[in-house]
Amino acid sequence: MAKRLTIMGATGSVGRSALSVVAHANASEDEPAFVVEALSANTDADGLANLAIKHGARCAAIADPAKYAELKERLAGTGIAAMAGSDALIELAQTPVDRVVAAIVGIAGLQSTYSAVAAGNSVALANKESMVCAGPLLKQLSRKTGAAIVPTDSEHNAMFQVLERPEDVERLILTASGGPFLDTPLSKLAHVTPDEACAHPNWSMGRKISVDSATFMNKALELIEAAYLFEFPEDRIDVLVHPQSIIHSLVAYRDGSTLAQLGTPDMQTPIAHALSWPDRRTQTSVKRLNLLDFQQLSFLPVDHERFPAIGLARQALAEGPSASVIMNCANEVAVAAFLAGQCRFSDISLIVEKALGLDIAQASRAGEELSLSDVIALDQEGRHRCVELIAGLGARSRS
Ligand code: NAD
Ligand code: MG
Repeated sequence: MAKRLTIMGATGSVGRSALSVVAHANASEDEPAFVVEALSANTDADGLANLAIKHGARCAAIADPAKYAELKERLAGTGIAAMAGSDALIELAQTPVDRVVAAIVGIAGLQSTYSAVAAGNSVALANKESMVCAGPLLKQLSRKTGAAIVPTDSEHNAMFQVLERPEDVERLILTASGGPFLDTPLSKLAHVTPDEACAHPNWSMGRKISVDSATFMNKALELIEAAYLFEFPEDRIDVLVHPQSIIHSLVAYRDGSTLAQLGTPDMQTPIAHALSWPDRRTQTSVKRLNLLDFQQLSFLPVDHERFPAIGLARQALAEGPSASVIMNCANEVAVAAFLAGQCRFSDISLIVEKALGLDIAQASRAGEELSLSDVIALDQEGRHRCVELIAGLGARSRS
């Protein structure tokens, strides 16, 4: 039986990779392996309509209601239903399918990820920010509804593939490429441009996650993601810089074995695994790994002076779930400001650090169990405060 898929964030980097996996898998089997039920996007009605038509979706939803007329017109006569608005995205996420691909960027993906899990839909989770902001809540909900959360971020998918006996795991080891500024002199780091920050050496990705990779915030968010996803203590999760991005992460067991997952750096592999799981039938067109192509694989410790993000993530995890919400929203606001030319690259970590020290985070830290509305409220308040912090930095550079 073909697996029915809904892809939230279909027009993005992960969304398009997922659709490429689906198209290749269907072309390489006698019977289609996947059927695309529904696709969503934020504002690109034309791009969404093209993908819906190309992949034979039953329905397409655009988050921006102002784009509804354009989407409806582009889909006229195709038989594909057009929907719009945030409620439409929730409805798509709740409609029964075999897997919902959560590929929206940022906390904007939380509501649909939550709705999918609440409705019992298993989720291929690329949207790490939803696990960072609501990890304990999503894990609890998934246990209640039985909806699996299948790790799709490449590192977490790698660990998931080699995580045989969680109770016998000693350490999780997250690998990091190091991003484009691993060797950039510290004096230059403050002045790098958005385009330089988005030029990742190994992966082609959306702009927000590309900046996150350059600041190490991506790895910091992934550390929190791993701690919540695998319900594993932060002090037993290591971060290892591995510039070739061939080993996607490792799991060390108490008997002395360390298991790793390897592959060329291409999101189609973890996506194919997450779509197929629990089997691994999906054939991809990904370039096969040949270790003879590499003179050597190298490994380095994290330079915490250059990249304070990992330390901030450990601090946030120690403080409790609301600190992770603040860390995420401060980073989202700061990255948007950096991409818009309103702050410097080095200000991103500074804003996150300052935001973690604000009283908003502290006020709700005691004995907390955050509900979805608590997370959304904290995120909103955090955003307002971070906009003020950025305005303060602007005043600094003018004075
Ligand atoms: P992207 O910017 O390329 O795409 C984002 C998608 O989300 C688009 O389809 C966009 O229309 C949609 N979207 C954005 N804002 C929205 C909103 N407010 N409401 C509804 N939809 C909205 O991002 P990406 O690089 O594909 O990353 C997506 C997610 O996957 C992120 O959480 C990222 O951290 C994670 N991830 C990405 C990669 C990668 O290789 N790109 C790898 C691992 C994890
Ligand atoms: Mg990753």
